[in-house]
Amino acid sequence: MNPQLSVQALEKTFGAVKATNGASFDIAPGELHAIIGPNGAGKSTLIAQIAGEIRPDKGRIFLNGQDITDVPAHQRPRLGLARAFQVSQLYPEFTLLENVAVAIAARDGQTFGLWKPMASDQSLLAPAADYLARVGLEARGHAQVSALSHGERRQLEIALALAQEASVLLLDEPMAGMGAQESARMTQLLLELKGRYAILLVEHDMDAVFALADRITVLVYGQTILTGSVEQVRNDPHVRAAYLGE
Ligand code: ADP
Ligand code: MG
Repeated sequence: MNPQLSVQALEKTFGAVKATNGASFDIAPGELHAIIGPNGAGKSTLIAQIAGEIRPDKGRIFLNGQDITDVPAHQRPRLGLARAFQVSQLYPEFTLLENVAVAIAARDGQTFGLWKPMASDQSLLAPAADYLARVGLEARGHAQVSALSHGERRQLEIALALAQEASVLLLDEPMAGMGAQESARMTQLLLELKGRYAILLVEHDMDAVFALADRITVLVYGQTILTGSVEQVRNDPHVRAAYLGE
């Protein structure tokens, strides 16, 4: 099968730091592909390049065979690639339903002003309720974002990514700062989404990664040193030494 997303020999230097130093991997349709690596390995920089927020110095990114390396970030969702929104970019005084409605309107190109009237548009609120239901937030639609728990905020971020109707989702540490119960709920949610979306998951929680990933790519000093199954990565001596601390 042709890859849905293909990252080829990316390089990105910040001053003296080679944050990305020849990163390459492919993601198949419906695959959950995890990126693991120590702090500072370049995981977030890699995600930002795929999302289009950072321009790589070298290398190419292909989405469904199309070279998107030079496509601006805001045009990538419409091509099928969405990054989970940061809830900090949302309207804290709006309800969850209103925020998702705004995200739907933005996806459809209505990106200028007048968010409040848009957020009360019934034709947007009905699909907004559906996106909330997909992440288990259906009972919280009328709550304000400012009233959400940390775990609920991260669930909302996923709903906003789904609202972009992309086929590839980029998630940078969705379990960060979560307790065990919240992590378990997020793991369950990602299990439900896996297969219907190709997901690139950067995550520190190795139990979650091992439970979720079809394949794992290991990133060390900006280099993708290995891509393999959970078992292959778990048993690789280099990975144990470089990352799992054994
Ligand atoms: P990770 O997400 O794996 O922890 P990052 O991608 O955040 O790693 O960072 C990789 C390296 O690049 C680090 O050494 C970090 O300090 C550096 N870095 C990241 N972003 C910038 C930036 N905007 N300017 C300078 N250095 C950066
Ligand atoms: Mg990071």
